[in-house]
Amino acid sequence: MKNILLISVVFLFSCTSQKEEAPIAEKTSTEEEIPNTAYVMVLGIAQDAGYPQMNCKKECCKQAWKNPDLQRTTSCLAIVDPISKEQWIIDATPNIKEQLQLLKQKTGTEKLDGILLTHAHMGHYTGLMHFGREVMGTDNLPVFVMPKMKNFLEENGPWSQLVKLENINIKALKSDSTFRLNERIKIKPFLVPHRDEFSETVGYEIMINNKSLIFIPDIDKWEKWETDISELIKKVDYAFLDATFYKNGELKRDMSEIPHPFVKESMGLFSDLTETDKQKVHFIHFNHTNPLLIEGSTAQKEVFEKGFNLVKEGQMIRF
Ligand SMILES: [Zn+2]
Ligand SMILES: [Zn+2]
Ligand SMILES: [Zn+2]
Repeated sequence: MKNILLISVVFLFSCTSQKEEAPIAEKTSTEEEIPNTAYVMVLGIAQDAGYPQMNCKKECCKQAWKNPDLQRTTSCLAIVDPISKEQWIIDATPNIKEQLQLLKQKTGTEKLDGILLTHAHMGHYTGLMHFGREVMGTDNLPVFVMPKMKNFLEENGPWSQLVKLENINIKALKSDSTFRLNERIKIKPFLVPHRDEFSETVGYEIMINNKSLIFIPDIDKWEKWETDISELIKKVDYAFLDATFYKNGELKRDMSEIPHPFVKESMGLFSDLTETDKQKVHFIHFNHTNPLLIEGSTAQKEVFEKGFNLVKEGQMIRF
């Protein structure tokens, strides 16, 4: 009788706690708990140079040089499937060593199943060097790239050596063409305007459980793109968007040479979106000068007050 009573009490408690947990579950979460279906994990949020930036002695980087907790790595996402224990990353950054270590710590899986690259700027592909014979010496690691990026890697050392020695196995992508990483995860690359000196630039749409996330770490001004970004935001569930600079004048140089959409401009452009659509917008790829890197800054408060979000390192995105 005592046992039955105890079981009933335990049962009652477990029911109540389940009921209580349900409404708190958020779409975006930094919780440690691993989701039971494929998800995205944020491994880095800064612009190509990371934060702080090499040699920067200005106010923007001062605290970050002193305190490693404030330092941020270059923008990088992992796509993780806990069912098949597969994992991929989008972009091979100069911080790939720390980022893959973070991924391993969080998922318990060391193996990497492939890399999707956005473009040939230093923050987005140079981490590939760690897969050569000096370090990992991987065997045919799949690297998904667009045609010009493929050509760039095949034709230029040291990258061409990775191809020749079959450390990496280049998989050619076609823009606007959806392909599967596995039965649960679909990917669609799409071209975006950006300083395309060595390769074209793509953003990626990640589709899991009929939900989707777009990742556009680098793009020129929104009006240079034939796609209407506001309409695209309405169609997806998460939009991780270029937030290199917060506002004009942030750099003491002609900023039209590096025409990223300022966060202030993006927020203006998206101001007519519904609250729900605004919540989908998550800014990422912060330059060291961007005050959004500083916790509690006026800029951060402004973004949240206007109904938008910031991507956080270690964040898990559930679908
Ligand atoms: Zn970049
Ligand atoms: Zn700085
Ligand atoms: Zn770039």
